Amino acid sequence: MTYIIAPPAQPSLPVIGSDQRFPIRRVFCIGRNYAEHAREMGASVDKAAPMFFCKPADAVVSDGADVPYPSVTTDLHHEVEMVVALAAAGSNIAPADAASLIFGYGVGLDLTRRDLQAQAKAKGHPWDVAKAFDHSAPVSALCPATTAHVDAGTVLRLSVNGELRQQTTLGEMVHAVPQIIAALSSLFELKAGDLIFTGTPAGVAALQRGDRFHAELVGVAELESRIV
Ligand code: MN
Repeated sequence: MTYIIAPPAQPSLPVIGSDQRFPIRRVFCIGRNYAEHAREMGASVDKAAPMFFCKPADAVVSDGADVPYPSVTTDLHHEVEMVVALAAAGSNIAPADAASLIFGYGVGLDLTRRDLQAQAKAKGHPWDVAKAFDHSAPVSALCPATTAHVDAGTVLRLSVNGELRQQTTLGEMVHAVPQIIAALSSLFELKAGDLIFTGTPAGVAALQRGDRFHAELVGVAELESRIV
């Protein structure tokens, strides 16, 4: 079989301790998963109904590549988040079974055109242009779950130009990873290659061209890059 045009490149991420890469299928994101961040956005947390959105797989920026400042916005915001990578498929997964789907963990930025998001919220429009733009998802190398130590005390943080901007422990998440996987898998059939951005803590703020950022899931994964 041949294609009538060249097939799109397969987005992928490096894997810590391996020469092989993780191929990305879909990128799911949960909104409002840390109460302090929901408050700073003037929103409230709905514990019964987690809120999801998606980014395209080719929005992922890998290997610490430069992140271009996006068009149209004048208010690009950082949201540092733990990223969970899946290595198995499933629908209607029970929270107790969710761990069996997990390949590993990374850290990434859910970059957001905050001005366009505010306009979308005001008009009741979808969030795609605010969230799903090109290069909107820089992600670190993935740490396999077999070697990663991730628990409620694990620290997630982001520094910009050496200044701490966001910091939390994973225990502050409203919906923990098993609950996120359970809820997502009731809405979509999850498959190997899926990434899940698990929400951002308080402290989101603007990035400018030339800013250098350092995102860490401490002891697990880290990402250093810059906005150009
Ligand atoms: Mn986010």
